[in-house]
Amino acid sequence: MPLTRFEEHLSALKNKHLYRTITDRENAQGKTISLNGKTLINFSSNDYLGLSYNPEIIKHTKKYLDTFGTGGGASRLLHGGTHLHTELEALTAQLKQTESALSFSSGFSANVSVIPALTDANTSIFSDELNHASIIDGVRLSSAVKYIYRHNDAKHLSELMSADRNPNKMVVTESVFSMDGDIAPIDSINELCKANNALLYIDDAHGTGVIGKGCGVLAHFGINPEPHIIQMGTYSKALGSIGGFVACSSVITDYLINTARGFIFSTALPSYVAAASIAAIEFVMKNPEIINQLMNNIRFLKTALKDIGISVNPSDTAIVPVYLDSVKETLRVSDYLQQKGFRVPAIRPKTVKTPRLRISVTALHTEYDLVSLAEAMKEVLAVT
Ligand SMILES: *Cc1c(COP(=O)(O)O)cnc(C)c1O
Repeated sequence: MPLTRFEEHLSALKNKHLYRTITDRENAQGKTISLNGKTLINFSSNDYLGLSYNPEIIKHTKKYLDTFGTGGGASRLLHGGTHLHTELEALTAQLKQTESALSFSSGFSANVSVIPALTDANTSIFSDELNHASIIDGVRLSSAVKYIYRHNDAKHLSELMSADRNPNKMVVTESVFSMDGDIAPIDSINELCKANNALLYIDDAHGTGVIGKGCGVLAHFGINPEPHIIQMGTYSKALGSIGGFVACSSVITDYLINTARGFIFSTALPSYVAAASIAAIEFVMKNPEIINQLMNNIRFLKTALKDIGISVNPSDTAIVPVYLDSVKETLRVSDYLQQKGFRVPAIRPKTVKTPRLRISVTALHTEYDLVSLAEAMKEVLAVT
C-alpha cells in the first residue's frame, strides 16, 4: 500500500499530541471569532490593527474589484499588474523610506524567491536559528554557504562572519520573531553588516504596521534605510490584506524583476488586492492613533500577565508567548481558555522547539477583554 507511510506518520503525530486539523471560522476576522457556533474573543489573529474588515478599506477595494475583476490573469512581466501595483510599490517604498519596492503574491513567496536570487555559491548566508520556515526554505534553495547563528546573538554572528572568507555575505533575520515576539538587535547586526561589507535582509512581517510607528524595525531603531539593507514584509498581517514585498534600492528591485523566480513565474496579485493594501497603508498613515491603541493594549496585557506572575518579554510587539512545560499542558490551558470564551492557540513542535500559548494582541481588544483573559489564565495556571 503506497500510502501506508503517510498514515503511519499521522498516527505517530496523534500519539504525541502533535496532530493538527483545520477549523474554519464563521465570521470576518476581528475581535471575536466564531468557531463551531461558539463566539470567542480572538487572540489568534495577525490582523493586529483590525484592517482586514475595515469599512473604509472595503469600500475603496470594491471599486477596483468592479473595474479590474477578480484575477491578475498573468505575471507582472506579462501585464498581470495595473497602475495599482505600481502605486502600491511606491507607497510601500514611502512607508519604508526606500528608493523602491516590489510586490509578490505572498510573504512566503517573497522569501523563497528573493533569498536565492540575491545569493550564489560565492556568497555566505548567516541566518538566525529561529527564522521563519519561509526564510529557512529560501536559504535551502540558495547555492550559498550557510551559517546558522544563535538566536539574536550578535557576538556569535560576528565570530562566524570574521571566520568566513567568501567575498559576498548576507545576514538574514526576522525583525519581530513570529513565535517569541522579541525584537532582533538590528542596530548591532547592522554595524556588523557594515563592517563586513554584507547585505542585511530583514523579514519585517510582524514589525510592519506595529513597531516604529507602523514603519517597522528600522524606524524603531532610528536606522536609515541604506542601500545594503533589504526590508522584506507582508501586506497580510497588520495591513489586513495579502501579498509580500521587498523594499530596497532600485538596483535590487530591478535585479529581482529579472531574476526572482517567484516574481517572474507567478501570477500578479489581483488589482483589488493591491487596492486593499494601498488603502491599508494610507489608513495607517492617516490614523496613527490606531497604533497607539495597539501599543496601549500590548502594554496593558503584559502588565496584567506580570501581575499574576507570568514572565513576558519587554518588547512592544503584538506577539505575547506564554511558555509551558509540555505539549499536553499547553493544550490543556488552550482548551480551558476556549471553554471560558478565549481563543488562544497552542503552538507546538515542529513549529517551535518548546510549546507555548501564543497570544496575539490587536487594537480591537478592550481592556476588559485583556483583563478577563489574564484572570482566566490565572485560574487555569493556578498562579497567585
Ligand atoms: C507570515 C510570515 C511570512 C509569510 O508571509 P505571508 O504573506 O503570510 O505568506 C514570512 N515571514 C514571517 C516572519 C512570517 O511571520
